[in-house]
Amino acid sequence: MPELPEVESLTQFLRERAVGRTIVGVDVVGFQALKTFDPPATALGGLSITGVARHGKFLDLDCDGLHLVIHLARAGWLRWRDDLSGAKPVRPGKGPLALRVRLAPDDEGAAPGFELTEAGTQKRLAVYVTRDPGEVPGIAALGPDPLDPSFTVAALKRIVGGNRTQIKGLLRDQKIIAGIGNAYSDEVLHAARMSPFKIAATLTDAQIADLHEAIVTTLGEAVERAHGLAAKDLKAEKKSGLRVHNRAGQPCDVCGDTIREVSFADSALQYCPTCQTGGKPLADRRLSRLLK
Ligand SMILES: [Zn+2]
Repeated sequence: MPELPEVESLTQFLRERAVGRTIVGVDVVGFQALKTFDPPATALGGLSITGVARHGKFLDLDCDGLHLVIHLARAGWLRWRDDLSGAKPVRPGKGPLALRVRLAPDDEGAAPGFELTEAGTQKRLAVYVTRDPGEVPGIAALGPDPLDPSFTVAALKRIVGGNRTQIKGLLRDQKIIAGIGNAYSDEVLHAARMSPFKIAATLTDAQIADLHEAIVTTLGEAVERAHGLAAKDLKAEKKSGLRVHNRAGQPCDVCGDTIREVSFADSALQYCPTCQTGGKPLADRRLSRLLK
């Protein structure tokens, strides 16, 4: 799933390639992806892209005041196409293609554009056409952005204070902090040497400061690594930069212990026992419930 660093990188990528270009047409292929009906997607035709912004994990293309807002969800991706002039007309139906945005030809006659694709059968990719991105429910509910200067240690202290949830769940709750998902929450907790099951409200001031440092550094470094990469290269870069996420069974880079996995909410999390839980593996609550 693309998280803050990947969406930030896609934002920069589109800013460089798409701003200043005119939209010729928007082809909605996966009708379930389009979550708004007024204004229609056809209203984007003829408008030029004037800016690209990120809100949490949402991409926001400003098209002369009308916004095309994209949430890639778990299996969605954006693919830039240098020349769509030879592309086949899109037919709604099966396949990963959800949306195609065609841009005006450049001086050489190439007609670039981009496509949104979604792998798998669960279709969660979401597209909104709106005059105000703040009207998109997921954006309206977003917590603070961890890369914003206002996200200070004091701000994080206010967030965790009195919160009785496990820190892993808190970190990936978009309403609490924007942009962190399953992968980077594992990475942040490893960097902070903190158990994912720790209750947020029990963090000491020193632990809050460590967690803040881990959030800002982990995301900042991932953004830095992804900077300047083409959209197609981002997934491989994300994977290569992860130290614990999806690495169960492999040795920890820091201490050499074996990275472990435990179920959490609707998926699983990975962590290093030596770095994060005093050497003790976490009990898999889902499994132990089944064994009783
Ligand atoms: Zn370790």
